[in-house]
Amino acid sequence: DDVVCVILQPTRRADLDVAMMISDRLQGSVTQPLSLEGRSLRVTCHIGICTDVMSPEPTGGAFLAAADCALAIASRQEDGAVRAFTPEMQAAVETDHTLAVEVGSALRKGQIRPWFQPQVDARSGTLTGFEALARWHHPKLGVLAPGRFLGSVDAAGYNAELGERMLRASLEAMEAWDRAGIDVPHVGINFSMDELRDPRLAERVVWEVDRAGIAPFRIAVEILETVTLADAEQVIMRNVRALKEAGFMLDLDDFGTGAAAISHIARFGVHRIKIDRSFIEGVEHEPETRRMVGAILKLASELGIESLAEGVETDAQAEALAQMGCGHLQGYGIAKPMPFDDTVRWVRERGVPEGWGGRIDLATAQPRGSA
Ligand code: C2E
Ligand code: CA
Ligand code: CA
Repeated sequence: DDVVCVILQPTRRADLDVAMMISDRLQGSVTQPLSLEGRSLRVTCHIGICTDVMSPEPTGGAFLAAADCALAIASRQEDGAVRAFTPEMQAAVETDHTLAVEVGSALRKGQIRPWFQPQVDARSGTLTGFEALARWHHPKLGVLAPGRFLGSVDAAGYNAELGERMLRASLEAMEAWDRAGIDVPHVGINFSMDELRDPRLAERVVWEVDRAGIAPFRIAVEILETVTLADAEQVIMRNVRALKEAGFMLDLDDFGTGAAAISHIARFGVHRIKIDRSFIEGVEHEPETRRMVGAILKLASELGIESLAEGVETDAQAEALAQMGCGHLQGYGIAKPMPFDDTVRWVRERGVPEGWGGRIDLATAQPRGSA
């Protein structure tokens, strides 16, 4: 990402209002759609603000560092977020630096490991898989979600190590579920763009899974929708193809947020689309959302692609989605991600439910201490 610094001349009223007005104008011009080689591009920018009253010290260096700090915080938020500096931000950014320094040893010590979130059949409610989601069991800060540390992993160059840890731990979990007689058809694993750019990725993953004696189709490789775009990089395409040919399942993550055409996705050979959470919110009562999800599901079914709804938070959403023909459900409404040890209890306590409609007691089905 490129960074541009805008310094304003001293004026009598250089307060937050003025700074906000100027950021609005900057963003207004940056976000004008661009057309490049016949494609329309959307550019966004994050903005960090520091005014003289906000600056920790009246020096140029402190000013810049504070604005940079506000920018770092803004960059973690949604596209186009603007943030003004506060002293707490400094602490947060310093923690990030500490995390970036600690991440390597945390991986070696096994402090970063997968938690698992159940995926269920929308009609019968039976378990159809788990998604492995990284959690850092930090000795001082507690359990951290990926939003807090993936940036540090990336900055410190540990994407491959994280991927390897997640895969190995997931394979171990599958062996343990198998031994315990718990039927877990699939485990979804997230692959970062950086990992997919490694020409040896597919080879390594195939070897790892083979060594563990797990059938490749039980691993759902989760890739982002953007990966299927016609001009995706060759190395990425090669990896995805090799994994598919080796028999891995292919899940398209965050479907609906990217720009891929569903016809292209069909040609790409995706097994399942994971409909993004933003489409699920309101699906039970908003006709517009319902129509959209309905159209996605119909197209997917006609193309022979399976579907999973992400971020299902309520029974009403689960019921609406099941009625509309969505195949699988995942979300807090079924269960939050949980450590491996809780999965066994969760499956046992829940038993095999006899379908949706209040028969599954969501309140008691949640394990304690899940986040
Ligand atoms: P994702 O792949 O889209 O994962 C789903 C995220 O939604 C998870 O957040 C999950 O906890 C959250 N979620 C699930 N159900 C609900 C719900 O009902 N409501 C709401 N509000 N949220 C729900 P999490 O665990 O914080 O992970 C965030 C992202 O970090 C993931 O998004 C994924 O892109 C990335 N990630 C997680 N683990 C790994 C990993 O091992 N490797 C890589 N490269 N990325 C990972
Ligand atoms: Ca995912
Ligand atoms: Ca997702």
